[in-house]
Amino acid sequence: MSFDVQALRGEFPILHQTVNGKPLVYLDNAATTQKPRAVIDAVSAYYEGVNSNVHRGAHYLSDKATAEFEAARATVAAFLNAAREEIIWTKGTTEGINLVAQSHGRERLRPGDEVLITALEHHANIVPWQQACERTGATLKVVPLNEDGSVDEQAYHDLLNERTRIVALSHVSNSLGTVNPLARWLKAARDAGAVTLVDGAQAVAHFPVDVQQLGCDFYACSGHKLFGPTGIGALYGRRELLDAMPPYQTGGEMIETVSFEKSTWNELPYKFEPGTPNIAGVIGLGAAVRWLDRQDRTALAMHEDALLASATEQAEAFDGLKIIGNAATKVGVLSFLLDGAHPADVGTLLDQQGVAVRTGHHCCMPLMDGLGIPGTVRASFSIYNTAEEVDQLFQALEKVRTFL
Ligand code: PMP
Repeated sequence: MSFDVQALRGEFPILHQTVNGKPLVYLDNAATTQKPRAVIDAVSAYYEGVNSNVHRGAHYLSDKATAEFEAARATVAAFLNAAREEIIWTKGTTEGINLVAQSHGRERLRPGDEVLITALEHHANIVPWQQACERTGATLKVVPLNEDGSVDEQAYHDLLNERTRIVALSHVSNSLGTVNPLARWLKAARDAGAVTLVDGAQAVAHFPVDVQQLGCDFYACSGHKLFGPTGIGALYGRRELLDAMPPYQTGGEMIETVSFEKSTWNELPYKFEPGTPNIAGVIGLGAAVRWLDRQDRTALAMHEDALLASATEQAEAFDGLKIIGNAATKVGVLSFLLDGAHPADVGTLLDQQGVAVRTGHHCCMPLMDGLGIPGTVRASFSIYNTAEEVDQLFQALEKVRTFL
């Protein structure tokens, strides 16, 4: 099947507009992806024809909302190769990691235990563990990076030991685009007796993820980075672990029985879903995954790789541009600095030309400190970007250079 990027773009209404008098070139996909018509329509159709509370089943609309809500769970479970009751709805990756750090982490960690992360992590995969360690007396250990922005694998194996209780790793770095070879690292973590969590926020839109094949205990991701709505995400958790964990938040829905003396918990996954959930978000995420499943994902990945290869080649040839993080395995991200220019100024001048990028520390302050830079300019690519848009980025950067 040949891949027609123009046809795909036609499904994304937002892309067809001008910004500051120029056609929009949206290269901020690592922050959030745009939404195809199928997702926008699914959310509208829910509010127009179905809106009702779920799991309260006394009437037609509630039954219908519940059926769509649970069908979306089955869709996401199949997408990650998990069982239905192992998928917990969250607000996003951040909440998924907090759930595990607060429920599993605070319950299980003891003084002297260690939690292992890498120097690449997003704040969402640092701060919850830091807090869990502070509350329990455990210690946070950090695997350093190589020069090219890849994780130092030898250091990872050296730091892993019998005190390591939890290993929390990003699948793909949001700042640099580095892809971590997780399958073998997770195996080593399991062999050391640690529980593993993967921050999949930046992975799921770029390549298929199979949590069984990866061999992780938890996998957290966000709908909005996967062509779905904001405010909804999924956490995969291995059933035995979820069963053993105390609730993260409490209230309605997550209980089996309540008395003033004592309450008991609902079965999985509801034990971790108190209160009225983001029903429209769940239905929108289900639609996003079904839409993505209909695409030729090999062709999409090849297209994205070609965009990144072209961007990298043009960046290497661009006078005064330094690529930050050039690991051998990357997806979707070109992070860079221009000589003598602050990233924020570059971002503003690109925006004036219709090119949307992100600048700054990208929620990775420790990573930027380690690299000795205040931040980067980050162009991040998705399936609907074109080779011409990559060229437009560099034409716009030529202009930026003349302004500065
Ligand atoms: N981890 C990574 C690697 C991310 O890129 C992000 C989003 N920038 C997050 C975690 C947090 O995701 P969310 O804001 O959707 O909760």
